[in-house]
Amino acid sequence: MAEGRTTILLVEDNPDDALLIREMLADADGGSFEWIHAERLSEGLEELSVGSADVVLLDLSLPDSHGLDTFATAHSHAPETPIILLTGLDDEELAVQAVQLGAQDYLSKSRMEGQLLVRSLRYAIERQNLLAEMVRQSDELARVNEDLRRSNAELEQFAYVASHDLQEPLRMVSSYVEILAEDYSGRLDVDADRFIGYVLDGATRMKGLINDLLTYSRVGTQGKPFGPADCNFIVERVLMDQARALDECGGRVTYSELPILTGDDTQLTQLLQNLLSNSLKYRRDVAPRVHVCAERRRDAWAFSVRDNGIGIEPRHSERIFQMFQRLHHRSEYPGSGIGLAVCQKIVERHGGRIWVESEPGKGSTFHFTISTSLEEEADHGS
Ligand code: ADP
Repeated sequence: MAEGRTTILLVEDNPDDALLIREMLADADGGSFEWIHAERLSEGLEELSVGSADVVLLDLSLPDSHGLDTFATAHSHAPETPIILLTGLDDEELAVQAVQLGAQDYLSKSRMEGQLLVRSLRYAIERQNLLAEMVRQSDELARVNEDLRRSNAELEQFAYVASHDLQEPLRMVSSYVEILAEDYSGRLDVDADRFIGYVLDGATRMKGLINDLLTYSRVGTQGKPFGPADCNFIVERVLMDQARALDECGGRVTYSELPILTGDDTQLTQLLQNLLSNSLKYRRDVAPRVHVCAERRRDAWAFSVRDNGIGIEPRHSERIFQMFQRLHHRSEYPGSGIGLAVCQKIVERHGGRIWVESEPGKGSTFHFTISTSLEEEADHGS
């Protein structure tokens, strides 16, 4: 493309029409365009192949090509160069079809006028530039997404390897401190006994943290392929596991008909297990009442788990999904703050999101979605 000047390739076999168009444009624009003139499609294609034109004015009826073929051939030679069709009285219909196939515009030779031509040319070039920019940006976005996916996977792998490899030295520290505690208790001084107690406590906590990290990183690295998962069955199974806790607090969990969806049923069990056990754990002084339900949205199942517990201040409603973030001390409510982070990761692996709505002192509702487009993917065997 010549700097600042726009080059028009005019493919028109009728010399009178060609002259008329050039004069019209010179009048309207004062000559800011460069011209290349071709009388046959084959000559036009040569120019297109070397990329000399910014925009093409193309007559559909040429000595060596007629009708839609003319456009299709020119377009396939230079898909990025905008083409404006010049139509006679009898080929307007065709031009409309060509626009549907990617032509920028068409102008009727009998009704052509200078300003209109200039506008059409400028608009065609602008539109093409915009399109090229959009393609460039979406390529860029795809690249950034891919980088992000890769670095997430690497991070996950790192967390997995690190936590896995930390287990061994930690086991050694724990076992020797346990021996110290058992065999040397009372034989050293009081301070030493106390310090050994701290080390034991620290090692136990560290073991818990490493296990949590492993659980968290396994969501991404060791998930099962998706298959059918009956959520009624899953809730029943979780309730069986929670039977004792329910008994102890006099809690009751109800659910309305839940879907059979496509996902990783082990992870979905873990998800509901975490949410339901939190609903019982973070209870007030009344017996816990929890209800689970789901409704079908356009491209997802939307679940909710509603409780009548202590609730969560709205300002904490995002923080609680982060790893190791808790709102209470271990002495108040046991836990490590990994449960909801794991829930979030499971939900994201299922193409959904998770959030909470709550009225402090009255209860919380945890919402999450599970994408239904995964069903088609699973049907296609991925
Ligand atoms: P943990 O229960 O081990 O602390 P979670 O990640 O499951 O870890 O929860 C993070 C925090 O979110 C909890 O410490 C608690 O403060 C709050 N929370 C979670 N579920 C509920 C609930 N159902 N009601 C009130 N607070 C909750």
